[in-house]
Amino acid sequence: MEIYRVGGAVRDTLLGHPHHETDWVVVGSTPEEMLTAGYTQVGRDFPVFLHPETKEEYALARTERKTAPGHQGFAVHADPSVTLEQDLERRDLTINAMAMDDDGTVIDPYRGQTDLKAKRLRHVSPHFVEDPLRVLRVARFAARYHHLGFRIADDTLALMTDIVAAGELTHLSLERVWVETEKALGEQHPAVYWQVLTDCGALAVLLPELEVSQGIAALARTAPGTRRVDARWAALLADLPESRALKASKRLKAPRRFTLLATKVSAWRAEVKAALRDAESCAALLVGLDALRRDEPFEGFCYTLLAMEQNAPEAERSIQLLREARTAAQAIRATDIADEGLAGPNLGAAILAAQIDRIRATLRS
Ligand code: ATP
Ligand code: MG
Repeated sequence: MEIYRVGGAVRDTLLGHPHHETDWVVVGSTPEEMLTAGYTQVGRDFPVFLHPETKEEYALARTERKTAPGHQGFAVHADPSVTLEQDLERRDLTINAMAMDDDGTVIDPYRGQTDLKAKRLRHVSPHFVEDPLRVLRVARFAARYHHLGFRIADDTLALMTDIVAAGELTHLSLERVWVETEKALGEQHPAVYWQVLTDCGALAVLLPELEVSQGIAALARTAPGTRRVDARWAALLADLPESRALKASKRLKAPRRFTLLATKVSAWRAEVKAALRDAESCAALLVGLDALRRDEPFEGFCYTLLAMEQNAPEAERSIQLLREARTAAQAIRATDIADEGLAGPNLGAAILAAQIDRIRATLRS
């Protein structure tokens, strides 16, 4: 058998970009031979194995034939006669379709190195259109390598547009969409992901709320100030009404933490100014963020607003004042209420009134 490095590891090595895992392809072997050599099989549908020691992924060279719509609608064919070139041909982008042998020799039948030099994200073959996940993957790579000057080739963007227009995105599971989206939010230029999805028409399918919002621009401004993906998600949805931020988060099956932060940022962001002028508004905001009882989502809210304002001194001062008001209000205990006869809602109202007094004193000082 012959073993080669493939995919992201080769691409990133040639780019001088750090990479975390190495994928391998094995030519001329069989599952039996892999198992005998001590590998364990992981893929149910694909012949993919884990190395006994490094636990890296070793996949038998394979070809694919389209059988049904969607990301998984392929019949996989792997046998010892499948060549390296055939395996590379089923891959999405030319820069992802290179292999490297032990000596560092690059095997590059689809001119990935030329595209690396030209900073071009280009599809390997017309079979590109067979998997709608590639729309999201290419958008994500555009976000990751934007700072290096990479752009999507025109004919590749045209194929992405075709995939969307054919309705193929509806065959993707929303869990897969979220996996790609969360990865994209963590890339260096996450707004580029959303811009590419806009350009190929995918935004209208996945997140139509954004089409009439300033969210992508807000994300672009916010991203340099934070790597936190939940804060970036919240920035993207910040100028939507709360109900639409909730709908968008639910549709893409964002985790609860993301949904909570995004809805709270969209609901309360515009209220901060008023809250710092008026103790009752401030108490309403703190209650709305559940800040009198727990740290989240209040801390995430403050963090996101600061990131959205690029940690500008004025924003720092506002958030500082908000924190002081919170601390002052939190200091009130039921035992601080003089009238011992109060109970239930009346006691609650008296506590709130005392909290508002403390907040007022803080805001004045
Ligand atoms: P990353 O740095 O994010 O891991 P990667 O290129 O290694 O990037 P993987 O998802 O690890 O991406 O996939 C490894 C390789 O498998 C890719 O480089 C590509 O050649 C191929 N590949 C993965 N997903 C697809 C797909 N949906 N269609 C075609 N080829 C794919
Ligand atoms: Mg990889």
